[in-house]
This record gives sequence, C-alpha cells and structure tokens, in this order.
Amino acid sequence: MRWGVASVSSQVEGLPQWLTRILAPNAGPMTLDGTNTWVLAAPDSPDAVVIDPGPEDTGHLASIAEHRPLSAILITHGHHDHVEGAETLSRMLGGVPILAADPKHGDPLPARARLAGLDVATIRTPGHTGDSVCFSVTDGRTPGIFTGDTILGRGTTVVAWPDGDLGAYLTSLATLTAYKMAMFPGHGPVRDDCAELAETYLAHRRQRLDQVRAAMAAGAETPEQIVDVVYPDVDPGVRFAAEWSARAQLDFLRRESQAAPEQLDPL
Ligand SMILES: [Zn+2]
Repeated sequence: MRWGVASVSSQVEGLPQWLTRILAPNAGPMTLDGTNTWVLAAPDSPDAVVIDPGPEDTGHLASIAEHRPLSAILITHGHHDHVEGAETLSRMLGGVPILAADPKHGDPLPARARLAGLDVATIRTPGHTGDSVCFSVTDGRTPGIFTGDTILGRGTTVVAWPDGDLGAYLTSLATLTAYKMAMFPGHGPVRDDCAELAETYLAHRRQRLDQVRAAMAAGAETPEQIVDVVYPDVDPGVRFAAEWSARAQLDFLRRESQAAPEQLDPL
C-alpha cells in the first residue's frame, strides 16, 4: 500500500531473501499491529533461527514451528510480548535453545555467531529495558538489524523505568546511528535505514528533555505533573507508559544535575 512519498521512501518493499515475518495476533496501543516474529535462514541453510517468538498464542507458535528445523530462539528483550511463547516453542521443537541477555529468559547470547547460514552479531542496547539487545545480521550481501523495541517501525518507544534507563538509551541510540541498513523492528513496519531513525529518535529524546527541563523550571515536580505538561494529549490507555518516560526523564535530569559538581573534583 502506498500513502505518500515520504513513507514509501522510508520503508523497504519486501524483505531480504533470508527473512520471513510472522505477525503475532496481539495488536494494541503498546504493540502497534502486533509483535513481529522474525524467522531467518539463508536460502541454502538446512536450519532456521527465530527472533522473538512473541506471545503464548497456539496458532502463532504453530506457524513459527512450521519453519523447522529451528536451531535457536533469540530474544531481543524480556517483555512478555516478545518472550512469553519462547519456552513453549522450544518444547514443541524438542528443546531448541533459547538465547537471551537476561539469564531469566535463556542461555547467554554469543557476541558473534554463524546461525542458519548467516553472520549474526549481538549489540547491547540497554535503555528500553536493561536487557535490550539488537541483532545485526548479514548473508554477506544484504545486511539488516533487528531492533526489538529499542527502535520501532512507527512512533517512538518507551523507556520502561526503572528497568529502562534514559542515559543508557541515549548511548544505545548513538550506537545505532552507525547502522546504515534495513531495520526490522519488534513492532511496526520494516524501515530502510536504522541509522537515520536512530538520529530521529535522538533528536526527539533531546527535544522531550528540553520540554521536561522547561516544565520543571515552571514548577512541575512529579511524573504526573510532567506528563500533564509534556504529554497533554496522551491517550488515557497508555498514560502509564508516558509516566514511565517521565520518571526516566526526571531520573536522568536529576543524575545529570548531580554529576556536574562531581566532575569538577578529580578525587
Ligand atoms: Zn514489544
């Protein structure tokens, strides 16, 4: 579907040969059209790997399992809309290993690995959550990066304070400005340039921080007051997420103001 020059130029039409998307049936205000579950396999590979099996939904897990033999289940972060179905899927497939940054959810992720005929690198990108990672993948010709909820295909993501951390998130976005390649997010459409979106996200976060500083200068003190000033039109259904972001912003700005005097003292 085409609905404008800007959106067409910023979205990939079609996926690399080595990639299949399976959309989970869990659309909602926080999950957009639903969780994107990604199945990866080089055309000549005997096996495949999956990124983010998504919710515990029988039909969804069955359509992932059709792509067997799956040799690994990779997790971008531990939110339930990404990881909930992982153990069931692993069991359905006879104990396929689950690999995740958080040991609660799986075995350790390799920094680099050859999986399903593809080169896969894990990039630590904490911020949305403490355990968030991205996967940069290539078949040697067509690279792409899987960003989980660190950068979404549409709109902005939330810093899930206190597990999420705005300072870490800004650093992670800066890291992602180096990935000038197709982006496959945890929610929303595929985008053709992760680097450009990372820049846009950084600019958006800086603008929000300026708004929060201004709101604090005008007397706002609590996350609730910050939300009222900075997110006045927020949908009541996702106000809790705006409050997470406000808490993350307040935490970041308070630490920033405390850090300044310390930097003057080398001891
Ligand atoms: Zn998500």
